[in-house]
Amino acid sequence: MQFIDLKAQQQLIRQKIEDNINKVLDHGRYIMGPEITELEQKLATYVGTRHALGCASGTDALMLALLALEIGPGDAVFTSPFTFFATGEVIALLGATPVFVDIDPVTFNIDPDKLAPAIQAVRQRGDLEPKVIMPVDLFGLPADYDAIGRIAEEHNLAVVEDAAQALGGEYQGRKACSLAKLGCTSFFPAKPLGCYGDGGMVFCDDDELDRLLRSLRVHGQGEDKYDNVRLGINGRMDTIQAAVLLAKLELLPKEMEQRQEVAGRYAELIAASGVALTAPSVPQGYASAWAQYSVLARDEAARGEFLERLKAANIPSAIYYPRPLHLQTAFAYLGHQAGDFPHSESAGARIFSLPMHPYLAADDQEKIVAALAG
Ligand SMILES: *Cc1c(COP(=O)(O)O)cnc(C)c1O
Repeated sequence: MQFIDLKAQQQLIRQKIEDNINKVLDHGRYIMGPEITELEQKLATYVGTRHALGCASGTDALMLALLALEIGPGDAVFTSPFTFFATGEVIALLGATPVFVDIDPVTFNIDPDKLAPAIQAVRQRGDLEPKVIMPVDLFGLPADYDAIGRIAEEHNLAVVEDAAQALGGEYQGRKACSLAKLGCTSFFPAKPLGCYGDGGMVFCDDDELDRLLRSLRVHGQGEDKYDNVRLGINGRMDTIQAAVLLAKLELLPKEMEQRQEVAGRYAELIAASGVALTAPSVPQGYASAWAQYSVLARDEAARGEFLERLKAANIPSAIYYPRPLHLQTAFAYLGHQAGDFPHSESAGARIFSLPMHPYLAADDQEKIVAALAG
Protein backbone atom coordinates (compact mmCIF):
# COMPACT_ATOMS: atom_id res chain seq x y z
CA MET A 1 0.00 0.00 0.00
CA GLN A 2 1.26 3.47 -0.92
CA PHE A 3 0.79 6.67 1.09
CA ILE A 4 0.25 8.50 -2.22
CA ASP A 5 0.06 6.20 -5.25
CA LEU A 6 1.44 8.09 -8.24
CA LYS A 7 1.92 4.89 -10.27
CA ALA A 8 -1.80 4.07 -10.39
CA GLN A 9 -2.46 7.47 -11.95
CA GLN A 10 0.47 7.21 -14.35
CA GLN A 11 -0.75 3.87 -15.70
CA LEU A 12 -3.93 5.57 -16.94
CA ILE A 13 -2.14 8.30 -18.93
CA ARG A 14 1.39 7.02 -19.50
CA GLN A 15 1.10 7.26 -23.30
CA LYS A 16 -0.26 10.82 -23.17
CA ILE A 17 2.58 11.87 -20.84
CA GLU A 18 5.17 10.33 -23.14
CA ASP A 19 3.59 11.96 -26.22
CA ASN A 20 3.59 15.37 -24.50
CA ILE A 21 7.23 15.01 -23.40
CA ASN A 22 8.20 13.86 -26.90
CA LYS A 23 6.65 17.00 -28.37
CA VAL A 24 8.93 19.08 -26.15
CA LEU A 25 11.95 17.00 -27.21
CA ASP A 26 10.97 17.67 -30.84
CA HIS A 27 10.46 21.43 -30.62
CA GLY A 28 13.31 21.89 -28.13
CA ARG A 29 11.95 24.97 -26.38
CA TYR A 30 12.82 23.75 -22.91
CA ILE A 31 12.50 27.22 -21.39
CA MET A 32 9.14 29.01 -21.78
CA GLY A 33 7.92 26.71 -24.54
CA PRO A 34 4.32 26.85 -25.82
CA GLU A 35 3.17 24.31 -23.18
CA ILE A 36 3.66 26.97 -20.46
CA THR A 37 1.10 29.35 -21.96
CA GLU A 38 -1.30 26.50 -22.71
CA LEU A 39 -1.12 25.30 -19.09
CA GLU A 40 -1.50 28.84 -17.74
CA GLN A 41 -4.64 29.38 -19.81
CA LYS A 42 -6.19 26.03 -18.90
CA LEU A 43 -5.56 26.44 -15.18
CA ALA A 44 -6.79 30.05 -15.13
CA THR A 45 -10.02 28.75 -16.67
CA TYR A 46 -10.19 25.86 -14.18
CA VAL A 47 -9.83 28.05 -11.07
CA GLY A 48 -11.71 31.03 -12.56
CA THR A 49 -9.11 33.82 -12.59
CA ARG A 50 -8.08 36.16 -15.42
CA HIS A 51 -4.41 35.24 -15.10
CA ALA A 52 -2.17 32.33 -14.16
CA LEU A 53 1.62 32.37 -14.10
CA GLY A 54 3.65 29.15 -14.19
CA CYS A 55 6.74 29.17 -11.99
CA ALA A 56 9.45 26.91 -10.61
CA SER A 57 7.82 25.80 -7.33
CA GLY A 58 5.12 26.58 -4.81
CA THR A 59 7.75 28.36 -2.75
CA ASP A 60 8.62 30.59 -5.71
CA ALA A 61 4.90 31.23 -6.27
CA LEU A 62 4.62 32.62 -2.72
CA MET A 63 7.85 34.55 -3.13
CA LEU A 64 6.72 36.09 -6.45
CA ALA A 65 3.35 37.07 -4.95
CA LEU A 66 5.04 38.88 -2.05
CA LEU A 67 7.60 40.48 -4.39
CA ALA A 68 4.76 41.76 -6.58
CA LEU A 69 3.24 43.40 -3.49
CA GLU A 70 6.69 44.90 -2.70
CA ILE A 71 6.88 43.25 0.69
CA GLY A 72 10.18 43.71 2.52
CA PRO A 73 11.88 44.88 5.71
CA GLY A 74 9.54 46.54 8.19
CA ASP A 75 6.45 44.77 6.86
CA ALA A 76 4.32 42.34 8.89
CA VAL A 77 2.78 39.33 7.13
CA PHE A 78 0.15 37.49 9.19
CA THR A 79 0.08 33.74 8.71
CA SER A 80 -0.55 30.38 10.36
CA PRO A 81 2.20 28.69 12.37
CA PHE A 82 0.67 25.29 11.53
CA THR A 83 1.91 24.84 7.97
CA PHE A 84 4.82 23.71 5.83
CA PHE A 85 7.99 25.70 6.53
CA ALA A 86 7.99 27.51 3.16
CA THR A 87 4.96 29.65 4.11
CA GLY A 88 6.90 31.45 6.84
CA GLU A 89 10.25 31.12 5.11
CA VAL A 90 9.47 33.30 2.08
CA ILE A 91 8.21 36.11 4.32
CA ALA A 92 11.44 36.14 6.30
CA LEU A 93 13.67 35.68 3.22
CA LEU A 94 12.30 38.94 1.83
CA GLY A 95 13.24 40.67 5.08
CA ALA A 96 9.63 41.00 6.24
CA THR A 97 8.42 39.60 9.56
CA PRO A 98 6.06 36.64 9.87
CA VAL A 99 3.44 37.35 12.52
CA PHE A 100 1.83 34.08 13.52
CA VAL A 101 -1.86 33.80 14.35
CA ASP A 102 -3.17 30.58 15.90
CA ILE A 103 -5.44 28.15 14.05
CA ASP A 104 -9.02 27.08 14.48
CA PRO A 105 -8.70 23.66 16.14
CA VAL A 106 -11.38 22.10 13.90
CA THR A 107 -10.29 23.27 10.42
CA PHE A 108 -6.55 23.68 11.23
CA ASN A 109 -6.67 26.96 9.29
CA ILE A 110 -5.92 30.47 10.57
CA ASP A 111 -8.61 31.64 13.02
CA PRO A 112 -10.16 34.85 11.65
CA ASP A 113 -11.28 35.88 15.15
CA LYS A 114 -7.64 36.09 16.22
CA LEU A 115 -6.56 38.20 13.23
CA ALA A 116 -7.85 41.64 14.25
CA PRO A 117 -6.27 41.48 17.74
CA ALA A 118 -2.96 40.39 16.16
CA ILE A 119 -3.08 43.29 13.67
CA GLN A 120 -3.89 45.75 16.46
CA ALA A 121 -1.04 44.42 18.61
CA VAL A 122 1.43 45.01 15.76
CA ARG A 123 0.12 48.54 15.17
CA GLN A 124 0.38 49.29 18.87
CA ARG A 125 3.99 48.11 19.04
CA GLY A 126 4.69 50.44 16.14
CA ASP A 127 7.84 48.77 14.77
CA LEU A 128 6.18 46.95 11.86
CA GLU A 129 3.68 47.93 9.21
CA PRO A 130 0.84 45.38 8.76
CA LYS A 131 0.72 44.60 5.01
CA VAL A 132 -0.47 41.11 4.11
CA ILE A 133 -2.56 38.24 5.45
CA MET A 134 -1.35 34.91 4.07
CA PRO A 135 -3.80 32.15 5.03
CA VAL A 136 -2.95 28.54 4.23
CA ASP A 137 -5.57 26.13 2.86
CA LEU A 138 -4.22 23.29 4.96
CA PHE A 139 -4.59 19.71 3.74
CA GLY A 140 -6.67 21.11 0.83
CA LEU A 141 -9.41 22.83 2.86
CA PRO A 142 -9.74 26.55 2.09
CA ALA A 143 -9.49 29.02 4.96
CA ASP A 144 -12.47 31.30 5.75
CA TYR A 145 -11.89 33.94 3.05
CA ASP A 146 -15.10 35.94 3.63
CA ALA A 147 -14.18 36.60 7.26
CA ILE A 148 -10.50 37.15 6.39
CA GLY A 149 -11.42 39.48 3.51
CA ARG A 150 -13.55 41.69 5.78
CA ILE A 151 -10.67 42.10 8.24
CA ALA A 152 -8.20 42.72 5.41
CA GLU A 153 -10.42 45.44 3.98
CA GLU A 154 -10.95 47.08 7.35
CA HIS A 155 -7.19 47.24 7.96
CA ASN A 156 -6.20 47.88 4.35
CA LEU A 157 -4.17 44.67 3.96
CA ALA A 158 -3.72 42.44 0.90
CA VAL A 159 -4.54 38.72 1.10
CA VAL A 160 -2.29 36.08 -0.47
CA GLU A 161 -3.70 32.55 -0.54
CA ASP A 162 -1.24 29.73 0.12
CA ALA A 163 -3.19 27.11 -1.81
CA ALA A 164 -0.15 24.84 -2.30
CA GLN A 165 -2.24 21.89 -1.07
CA ALA A 166 -5.64 23.06 -2.25
CA LEU A 167 -5.91 23.15 -6.06
CA GLY A 168 -9.34 21.60 -6.70
CA GLY A 169 -10.77 22.69 -3.33
CA GLU A 170 -13.75 25.05 -3.13
CA TYR A 171 -15.15 27.80 -0.95
CA GLN A 172 -18.70 29.20 -1.32
CA GLY A 173 -18.88 28.17 -4.98
CA ARG A 174 -15.43 29.50 -5.88
CA LYS A 175 -12.29 27.47 -6.51
CA ALA A 176 -9.21 27.51 -4.29
CA CYS A 177 -6.41 29.67 -5.77
CA SER A 178 -9.04 32.30 -6.73
CA LEU A 179 -10.03 33.29 -3.18
CA ALA A 180 -7.66 36.23 -2.59
CA LYS A 181 -5.84 39.03 -4.42
CA LEU A 182 -3.13 36.49 -5.30
CA GLY A 183 -3.42 32.70 -5.10
CA CYS A 184 -0.39 30.41 -5.06
CA THR A 185 -0.16 26.69 -5.65
CA SER A 186 2.47 23.96 -5.92
CA PHE A 187 2.89 21.10 -8.38
CA PHE A 188 5.27 19.13 -6.15
CA PRO A 189 4.58 15.47 -7.07
CA ALA A 190 2.59 14.70 -3.91
CA LYS A 191 0.21 17.68 -4.21
CA PRO A 192 -3.33 17.21 -5.62
CA LEU A 193 -2.01 18.15 -9.08
CA GLY A 194 1.65 17.19 -9.20
CA CYS A 195 4.27 17.24 -11.94
CA TYR A 196 7.42 15.08 -12.13
CA GLY A 197 9.70 17.57 -10.45
CA ASP A 198 9.09 21.03 -9.01
CA GLY A 199 6.56 23.54 -10.26
CA GLY A 200 4.11 26.15 -9.07
CA MET A 201 1.61 28.79 -10.19
CA VAL A 202 0.37 32.24 -9.18
CA PHE A 203 -3.23 33.24 -9.96
CA CYS A 204 -4.75 36.73 -10.00
CA ASP A 205 -7.37 38.91 -11.68
CA ASP A 206 -5.30 42.09 -11.67
CA ASP A 207 -3.67 42.91 -15.04
CA GLU A 208 -0.99 45.10 -13.48
CA LEU A 209 -0.01 42.46 -10.89
CA ASP A 210 0.18 39.83 -13.62
CA ARG A 211 2.47 42.07 -15.68
CA LEU A 212 4.69 42.57 -12.62
CA LEU A 213 4.77 38.83 -11.89
CA ARG A 214 5.88 38.08 -15.46
CA SER A 215 8.76 40.51 -15.05
CA LEU A 216 9.71 39.23 -11.58
CA ARG A 217 9.73 35.62 -12.85
CA VAL A 218 12.63 36.48 -15.18
CA HIS A 219 15.03 38.65 -13.19
CA GLY A 220 12.81 41.71 -13.29
CA GLN A 221 13.06 42.00 -17.05
CA GLY A 222 11.69 45.08 -18.83
CA GLU A 223 11.23 45.52 -22.57
CA ASP A 224 13.77 42.85 -23.49
CA LYS A 225 16.05 40.24 -22.02
CA TYR A 226 18.90 42.64 -21.19
CA ASP A 227 16.72 45.40 -19.82
CA ASN A 228 16.23 44.81 -16.08
CA VAL A 229 13.91 47.27 -14.40
CA ARG A 230 13.58 45.64 -10.97
CA LEU A 231 15.09 42.80 -8.92
CA GLY A 232 13.44 39.46 -9.59
CA ILE A 233 14.34 35.78 -9.58
CA ASN A 234 14.87 32.92 -12.02
CA GLY A 235 11.44 31.51 -11.26
CA ARG A 236 10.39 29.92 -14.55
CA MET A 237 8.60 26.58 -14.84
CA ASP A 238 10.30 23.96 -17.07
CA THR A 239 8.44 23.30 -20.32
CA ILE A 240 8.71 19.55 -19.68
CA GLN A 241 6.86 19.93 -16.38
CA ALA A 242 4.08 21.87 -18.11
CA ALA A 243 3.86 19.03 -20.67
CA VAL A 244 3.43 16.49 -17.85
CA LEU A 245 0.84 18.68 -16.13
CA LEU A 246 -1.20 19.08 -19.34
CA ALA A 247 -1.59 15.31 -19.46
CA LYS A 248 -2.45 15.04 -15.78
CA LEU A 249 -4.85 18.00 -15.79
CA GLU A 250 -7.33 15.96 -17.83
CA LEU A 251 -7.72 13.60 -14.88
CA LEU A 252 -8.11 16.31 -12.22
CA PRO A 253 -11.91 16.81 -12.18
CA LYS A 254 -12.53 13.05 -11.94
CA GLU A 255 -9.78 12.66 -9.35
CA MET A 256 -11.38 15.37 -7.21
CA GLU A 257 -14.59 13.32 -7.18
CA GLN A 258 -12.65 10.19 -6.31
CA ARG A 259 -10.92 12.03 -3.45
CA GLN A 260 -14.35 13.00 -2.05
CA GLU A 261 -15.42 9.35 -2.18
CA VAL A 262 -12.26 8.17 -0.43
CA ALA A 263 -12.64 10.82 2.28
CA GLY A 264 -16.32 10.00 2.75
CA ARG A 265 -15.50 6.31 3.11
CA TYR A 266 -12.81 7.07 5.72
CA ALA A 267 -15.29 9.13 7.74
CA GLU A 268 -17.87 6.31 7.68
CA LEU A 269 -15.34 3.61 8.55
CA ILE A 270 -13.83 5.63 11.40
CA ALA A 271 -17.27 6.43 12.85
CA ALA A 272 -18.42 2.80 12.57
CA SER A 273 -15.22 1.46 14.17
CA GLY A 274 -15.70 3.54 17.31
CA VAL A 275 -11.94 4.19 17.32
CA ALA A 276 -10.96 7.22 19.47
CA LEU A 277 -9.97 9.51 16.60
CA THR A 278 -11.37 12.79 15.35
CA ALA A 279 -11.90 12.62 11.60
CA PRO A 280 -11.51 15.87 9.62
CA SER A 281 -14.71 17.87 9.17
CA VAL A 282 -15.53 20.07 6.21
CA PRO A 283 -17.76 23.09 6.99
CA GLN A 284 -20.89 23.82 4.93
CA GLY A 285 -20.02 25.57 1.67
CA TYR A 286 -16.47 24.19 1.54
CA ALA A 287 -14.86 21.35 -0.43
CA SER A 288 -11.43 20.01 0.44
CA ALA A 289 -8.96 18.91 -2.24
CA TRP A 290 -7.90 16.26 0.29
CA ALA A 291 -4.16 16.66 -0.21
CA GLN A 292 -3.97 14.85 3.12
CA TYR A 293 -6.45 12.96 5.26
CA SER A 294 -5.38 14.00 8.74
CA VAL A 295 -6.92 12.68 11.95
CA LEU A 296 -6.47 13.70 15.58
CA ALA A 297 -5.68 11.33 18.43
CA ARG A 298 -6.65 12.17 22.01
CA ASP A 299 -3.07 13.00 22.96
CA GLU A 300 0.52 12.42 21.88
CA ALA A 301 0.79 9.01 23.58
CA ALA A 302 -2.39 7.81 21.87
CA ARG A 303 -0.99 9.00 18.53
CA GLY A 304 2.16 6.99 19.20
CA GLU A 305 0.07 3.87 19.68
CA PHE A 306 -1.91 4.42 16.48
CA LEU A 307 1.31 4.93 14.51
CA GLU A 308 2.71 1.69 15.97
CA ARG A 309 -0.41 -0.23 14.93
CA LEU A 310 -0.18 1.10 11.37
CA LYS A 311 3.51 0.28 11.18
CA ALA A 312 2.91 -3.28 12.44
CA ALA A 313 0.33 -3.71 9.65
CA ASN A 314 2.75 -2.29 7.03
CA ILE A 315 0.58 0.76 6.43
CA PRO A 316 2.41 4.01 5.70
CA SER A 317 1.53 7.16 7.65
CA ALA A 318 2.99 10.64 8.15
CA ILE A 319 2.87 13.57 10.56
CA TYR A 320 2.05 16.99 9.10
CA TYR A 321 3.33 18.94 11.02
CA PRO A 322 5.04 17.84 14.21
CA ARG A 323 6.58 21.25 14.98
CA PRO A 324 4.77 24.54 14.34
CA LEU A 325 6.79 27.30 12.71
CA HIS A 326 7.05 29.50 15.82
CA LEU A 327 9.04 26.68 17.51
CA GLN A 328 11.39 26.09 14.55
CA THR A 329 15.05 26.92 15.18
CA ALA A 330 15.12 29.15 12.08
CA PHE A 331 12.48 31.37 13.70
CA ALA A 332 14.04 31.44 17.17
CA TYR A 333 14.92 35.10 16.51
CA LEU A 334 11.23 35.95 16.73
CA GLY A 335 11.40 35.07 20.43
CA HIS A 336 8.43 32.71 20.67
CA GLN A 337 8.05 29.96 23.23
CA ALA A 338 5.95 26.86 23.79
CA GLY A 339 2.43 27.87 24.76
CA ASP A 340 2.24 30.91 22.43
CA PHE A 341 -0.08 29.17 19.93
CA PRO A 342 -1.77 26.38 21.88
CA HIS A 343 -4.07 25.07 19.12
CA SER A 344 -1.18 24.72 16.67
CA GLU A 345 0.96 23.01 19.30
CA SER A 346 -1.85 20.65 20.33
CA ALA A 347 -2.50 19.71 16.68
CA GLY A 348 1.23 19.13 16.13
CA ALA A 349 1.30 16.69 19.05
CA ARG A 350 -1.86 14.77 18.15
CA ILE A 351 -2.26 14.79 14.38
CA PHE A 352 -1.28 12.18 11.79
CA SER A 353 -2.19 11.48 8.18
CA LEU A 354 -3.48 8.29 6.58
CA PRO A 355 -2.82 7.10 3.01
CA MET A 356 -4.78 9.38 0.66
CA HIS A 357 -5.02 9.42 -3.11
CA PRO A 358 -7.77 9.10 -5.74
CA TYR A 359 -7.03 5.42 -6.39
CA LEU A 360 -7.16 4.18 -2.80
CA ALA A 361 -9.30 1.01 -2.79
CA ALA A 362 -12.17 0.49 -0.35
CA ASP A 363 -10.67 -2.74 0.99
CA ASP A 364 -7.38 -0.98 1.70
CA GLN A 365 -9.28 1.67 3.64
CA GLU A 366 -11.02 -1.08 5.60
CA LYS A 367 -7.61 -2.60 6.41
CA ILE A 368 -6.32 0.79 7.55
CA VAL A 369 -9.22 1.47 9.90
CA ALA A 370 -9.15 -2.11 11.20
CA ALA A 371 -5.44 -1.68 12.00
CA LEU A 372 -6.20 1.59 13.82
CA ALA A 373 -8.92 -0.14 15.83
CA GLY A 374 -6.29 -2.72 16.88
C1 LIG B 1 4.20 22.30 -0.54
C2 LIG B 1 3.90 23.58 0.12
C3 LIG B 1 4.59 24.77 -0.18
C4 LIG B 1 5.80 24.81 -1.07
O1 LIG B 1 5.63 24.24 -2.32
P1 LIG B 1 6.92 23.68 -3.12
O2 LIG B 1 6.40 23.42 -4.48
O3 LIG B 1 7.37 22.45 -2.41
O4 LIG B 1 7.95 24.74 -3.10
C5 LIG B 1 4.16 25.93 0.43
N1 LIG B 1 3.15 25.95 1.30
C6 LIG B 1 2.49 24.83 1.64
C7 LIG B 1 1.36 24.91 2.60
C8 LIG B 1 2.85 23.61 1.07
O5 LIG B 1 2.21 22.50 1.43
